[in-house]
Amino acid sequence: MPTHSTRSLDVAAHVAASIVPAVLDVIGQSWSLGIIEALLLGDKSFGQLLLELSIPRSTLSARLKHLAAMRCLEPSSNGYRLTPSGQALLPVVSLARAWDSAADTCGNGFMHQCGRVFSPVLVCACCVRPVRAKDIHLDSPGDIPQLQSLPKPARRSRAEFSANQGLNAAELLGDRWTALIVALGFYGVQRYSDIARHLAIAPNILADRLLRLCDGQVLLRETEHDTGRPVYRFSERGLQLFSLIVVLIEWGDHWLRPAQQLPTLMRHLPCGQVLKPLLRCSSCSENVSIGSLSAPPA
Ligand SMILES: [Zn+2]
Ligand SMILES: [Zn+2]
Repeated sequence: MPTHSTRSLDVAAHVAASIVPAVLDVIGQSWSLGIIEALLLGDKSFGQLLLELSIPRSTLSARLKHLAAMRCLEPSSNGYRLTPSGQALLPVVSLARAWDSAADTCGNGFMHQCGRVFSPVLVCACCVRPVRAKDIHLDSPGDIPQLQSLPKPARRSRAEFSANQGLNAAELLGDRWTALIVALGFYGVQRYSDIARHLAIAPNILADRLLRLCDGQVLLRETEHDTGRPVYRFSERGLQLFSLIVVLIEWGDHWLRPAQQLPTLMRHLPCGQVLKPLLRCSSCSENVSIGSLSAPPA
């Protein structure tokens, strides 16, 4: 059994080389998740999307083009429709929205067939217990993935973050460094010096992103008891991001990783099985697919 610090270092290397950055290249830009969400229940035209999302025409056009190049959506007779890989983003979209809803940063999402507003919960398919950060063990990293080459999106700058409001999930995923700091945190890399080393990030950018994550009440800055060094731990709200990271990894392993490569192995400690996450409705405990959801009443 490796010590905690050895495991953290293995895991850090794993995350840095993991599927997470590839997934962020696909859906991490501003509005990408919103577009996927808007198309989950059916095709929409460019004009409908423009009206529903109220974003600049040029931004919508660029995002649609990027998501089409990433094979998440395609043109249809009515405008645009999700491909199977786009539809498979349902857990990502719904868990991101649920995280935002908990901070009251957005309105109602979908309705579930049970008649309630859909409130998602991620459970282990084997033992049906909810997926929590403390219950997952990441197996030793396998080979560094050789990902299919996909077009890279333009990088965002800090200036694109909305000022003076809580960090929302789309913003968090929309900034590569912010999302990678969170992913590393879940694998135990929380010391400032370790984060800096594993991400090879400029000190001013790291300081900026950590400040943003603390301001957004995702991380809490503490001082390590024995060494006096700064360490960033998750707040309660930060811990709730774990299931979102799990479904990002799951989606990337399934849709982006070449078949001959091993997927990211996450073991669910309560049942001892390899974690297969399952999306459920927290009101009725039924499994959730797109077909069981509908639009909220106007
Ligand atoms: Zn389990
Ligand atoms: Zn339900």
